[in-house]
Amino acid sequence: MRVLVTGGAGYIGTHTCVELLNAGYEIVIVDNFSNSKPEALKRIKEITGKDFKFYSIDLLNREELEKVFLENEIESVIHFAGLKAVGESVQLPLVYYQNNITGTLILCELMQKYGVKKLVFSSSATVYGDVKSTPILENFPLSATNPYGRSKLIIEEIIRDIGVSDSEWSVAQLRYFNPIGAHPSGLIGEDPNGIPNNLMPYISQVAAGKLKELKIFGNDYPTSDGTGVRDYIHVVDLAKGHIKALEKVMLETGVDAYNLGTGRGYTVLEMVKAFEKASGKEIPYSFVERRQGDISTCFADPTKAKMKLDWAAVMGIREMCVDAWRWQSNNRDGYEVLAKVPVHT
Ligand code: NAD
Ligand code: UDP
Repeated sequence: MRVLVTGGAGYIGTHTCVELLNAGYEIVIVDNFSNSKPEALKRIKEITGKDFKFYSIDLLNREELEKVFLENEIESVIHFAGLKAVGESVQLPLVYYQNNITGTLILCELMQKYGVKKLVFSSSATVYGDVKSTPILENFPLSATNPYGRSKLIIEEIIRDIGVSDSEWSVAQLRYFNPIGAHPSGLIGEDPNGIPNNLMPYISQVAAGKLKELKIFGNDYPTSDGTGVRDYIHVVDLAKGHIKALEKVMLETGVDAYNLGTGRGYTVLEMVKAFEKASGKEIPYSFVERRQGDISTCFADPTKAKMKLDWAAVMGIREMCVDAWRWQSNNRDGYEVLAKVPVHT
């Protein structure tokens, strides 16, 4: 079965492509490398020993994207492509709406035109907005606190409308909690541009000596140690959730949303301790003001994914930290491969 993977060169995309290839799927990847590097695609091949078709295309380029549907017998789509930096989305809302929403509209229009109606979409726990209680269930009220989150919310609603208009569509909207870690091979992982915004890549770079100390945003939250609680999930567990979701959309029609999380929350300080243990490195930190827009506690109730997708996360924070550290220490500068210096004799 041929699966189109948009954003397949990115963090979650690369890990999912590995799982898809290992499970015997044929894949076609589309990415514009706006937040990824071609080297990531080579690494997918290195891990799996398998090849795939790749198009260096922007989803906003309808003509180019249409060629992908014309040249390949696409049966289903996993749609990762999107911009994801919360702070940047506040500065550049039009860029975010254009890229994430228009990109998805063009993709869905082409899917409709070519009769491809099976979709797995990367949504986010951010669609729950300012959550009032935990664990979070899929039927909790949805809202947005920034343009990135709003783009995910709007796309979810667009997709639900498509499902209402045409009952042949079959869509899994996957609401990820906090993906971290890396493939155990140490060959693929998260490779943020510049200074990381998210906790785990920041901690990794402190451990590697690239950044001086972690700034912990707030120690006065109503949690066990005052620092924020999140549901961290190993990216390989998350990738496997996509295979289960794909199997589901191949079997049944309708649009449904699923939480992909572990169901367990950890504080920032617990993550720092776990990473120190896994890496053998000390992580210096200091407390600073709360980050604007942050919530205190966020973790999933993953029961629906267990019941309906037969999926549950199996890896704990030890594996998440060990694998994140292996990736960081083997690839100090991510996928940046040093240019070969010509040798003159
Ligand atoms: P990522 O930035 O590593 O991957 C996204 C990929 O999409 C990149 O390779 C980028 O180059 C590509 N892309 C972006 N816009 C494109 C366009 N217009 N045309 C073609 N390619 C384009 O991000 P990720 O962490 O792998 O996230 C994947 C998806 O999951 C995103 O939609 C993101 O919003 C969502 N998500 C991520 C997280 C997280 O913490 N990583 C959490 C919740 C949801
Ligand atoms: N965090 C922190 N320092 C950082 C980055 C994050 O203290 O440099 C905290 C943040 O306040 C939150 C948790 O770590 O409580 C996870 O943050 P991240 O940005 O990774 O995920 P999100 O807040 O989007 O769930």
